[in-house]
Amino acid sequence: MGIDSDQWDRQKRVSGWRQENVEGARCLVFGAGALGNEVVKNLLQLGVKDITIVDYDRVVRANLNRCVFFTPADAENENYKATVIARRATEVNPLARVNAIVKNLELLPADIYFSGRFDYAFACLDNLGARLHVNAHAYGHVALIDGGTTGFSGKVQVVASPSPCLECSVNKRDYQLLWRKYSCTGEMLDLVDPKMPALPTTTAVVAALQVNEFVKLAHGGQGFPADSLVGKYAFFNGLSNKFSVFSVSKRKSCPVHG
Ligand SMILES: [Zn+2]
Repeated sequence: MGIDSDQWDRQKRVSGWRQENVEGARCLVFGAGALGNEVVKNLLQLGVKDITIVDYDRVVRANLNRCVFFTPADAENENYKATVIARRATEVNPLARVNAIVKNLELLPADIYFSGRFDYAFACLDNLGARLHVNAHAYGHVALIDGGTTGFSGKVQVVASPSPCLECSVNKRDYQLLWRKYSCTGEMLDLVDPKMPALPTTTAVVAALQVNEFVKLAHGGQGFPADSLVGKYAFFNGLSNKFSVFSVSKRKSCPVHG
């Protein structure tokens, strides 16, 4: 195959790169919003062929500033986010099989995590409750790469058992907010969980960091030396250009792993 006719020629030139490790990965993406769009785009461009996207929501116009797969027509027609991404995915990587599960992730059968069907899960979610749900179910079964953004700031954390998990760093105030969210009226819900400010630039940075962590995990320490974010989180501030990495401590009272 000529050097310009192989879709993955340029990345294979990275010293130690193992394209087969990347292509063979089976990825589960929770959330088909801003981060979900970017994460799936990156996975497809790397050559990942097996992707399943979980999201129950429909496209609205306010998604269009940061969702590369969505068009105004999708908002007009109120198309399901996961379905739209799955449909457009093969335009980026014709070899990919991208499945959409249009369902609230809290209603998924638990065996999606422990059946051995998936190697990696990406949390591309906008609320702590959904994150903790995925974290609790994925722990010990599937490596979880969590991303979050607000305005110019973003955060990425990787959980791979026996590492500390997302819930290890949840404090009393977070639990109180969660309790209020699940116990109050819709009106209160808006107070607790307002629409967050969101930029396409921060989204692109955070999704790139998430998928970059996936690349490192998929190489499993082979090919090139790499320092992963397993058991740590990276915090990015696009205004000050600060990029900081913090270790997460395993909390004894964490309900996920005791
Ligand atoms: Zn924990």
